[in-house]
Amino acid sequence: MGSYLKTVIQNLLKGPSTDPYPFGKTFEPKGLRGKIRFNSQACVACRTCEHVCAGNAIRIKEAEDKSGLHFVVWHNTCAFCGLCEHYCPTKAIRMTADYHTAHSQAEKYNYVEQGFIKYVPCSCCGKPMIPVAAELLALAYKETANVEFLAQLCERCRPGNRLRKEE
Ligand code: SF4
Ligand code: SF4
Repeated sequence: MGSYLKTVIQNLLKGPSTDPYPFGKTFEPKGLRGKIRFNSQACVACRTCEHVCAGNAIRIKEAEDKSGLHFVVWHNTCAFCGLCEHYCPTKAIRMTADYHTAHSQAEKYNYVEQGFIKYVPCSCCGKPMIPVAAELLALAYKETANVEFLAQLCERCRPGNRLRKEE
């Protein structure tokens, strides 16, 4: 009886040994695949993520006024497989360690990660185009020094102007 009481007192003093979540902070396992984060500045709208998405959670759709592309990831359809992050050539998609996915039914249509990729006019032909980061062009046109200039051109004007300098 004495040792039993001792154990009870010891345990009472130690406090709960179970995880305090959801009332307190809990641990995040290393490598946890949580909610997607999207960076519209880095996206080149190649649609690879939409194509490989196991959960059919990604939609890339042109805006009604044709000013750019809406990008949406539905968190409650995402299967956290990580394929989008793996195949994105520009690292525009990142998986975070945020695993908090509970939400009310009323919130289900707002439970998204989204961004807008605004078209810019090509400085050569004027056609609306998706901006491409100069860093990416530097990878594609290794021998060309004027990537800042090429970044202002659409994919049709770029090859013919790759050796030209900005005027
Ligand atoms: S993690 Fe998988 S299911 Fe989720 S958005 Fe990316 S590809 Fe789709
Ligand atoms: S997020 Fe990545 S894979 Fe998806 S469209 Fe943009 S650049 Fe392509």
